[in-house]
Amino acid sequence: MNIAVLSGKGGTGKTTIATNLALLLEANYVDCDVEEPNGFIFLEPEDIKSRDVEVEIPKIDQEKCILCGDCIEACKFNALAKTKNKIILFDKLCHSCGACGLACPTKAIEYTKRAIGKIEEGKRGNISLKRGIMNIGEPMAVPILKELLKELSEEGINILDSPPGTSCNVVNVLHYAHRALLVTEPTAFGLHDLKMAVELVKRLNIPFGLIINKYDENNPYLKEYMEEENIELIGKIPFRREIAENYSKGQTLIHVEKYRGYFQQIIGNIEEVLL
Ligand code: SF4
Ligand code: SF4
Repeated sequence: MNIAVLSGKGGTGKTTIATNLALLLEANYVDCDVEEPNGFIFLEPEDIKSRDVEVEIPKIDQEKCILCGDCIEACKFNALAKTKNKIILFDKLCHSCGACGLACPTKAIEYTKRAIGKIEEGKRGNISLKRGIMNIGEPMAVPILKELLKELSEEGINILDSPPGTSCNVVNVLHYAHRALLVTEPTAFGLHDLKMAVELVKRLNIPFGLIINKYDENNPYLKEYMEEENIELIGKIPFRREIAENYSKGQTLIHVEKYRGYFQQIIGNIEEVLL
């Protein structure tokens, strides 16, 4: 079973929840926040193996090219352009669709590989840990996410630590999720972004529950919204300076006796409400 942990906005404590749950559940952990994957800081995997994620981009044989421009017309992503005497490629705009090669009348186009990021895999005890890392300046995370999520373990639970927000990267992760945990904080911004995340999981028909991080009593709007939308509360993590200090040192919370209980309660509620 794949459980996605997501949040409408960054900074809500999504990775804190995902990493601690992975440890307590002995679940495999997959860090899908490829622009800023920081789960490994807390989980400290061993024996990390790394491999590149590559995409195919066209390579034009200028000797065979007759500058007809058919490839430019075929490219729906504006990745090709004609100069005075050659066709040039804007490689970061290329979506590797292959249309240019099909359109070329002289077979001047071949394809070559370009690395856009990497996948790292390691172990911590019995659990396997994976993350995708996108190279700086790359615009497209989807090929890395696809590679990262294509061979998930079919045994036990996989925790998918999603990117923040509700972008197409999150939608891509949710395509692999059987259940979702939405993490929010009790602020006006938190509520605004939570609403978008709720809409998304509802639209994709994924059973979900809510975890409130940095919880304090004074948020009637969040309570009202949960009642209106009939949202199950799976757990709360209190607002404590000590938790932020732990986070800044890369420490997990389940190893602090007084916080472990919050995560045990979350797991009990996941089993009762979502499984
Ligand atoms: S592979 Fe597709 S996206 Fe890339 S340059 Fe060719 S037509 Fe454009
Ligand atoms: S379609 Fe082929 S021949 Fe025509 S401009 Fe493009 S690469 Fe050159």
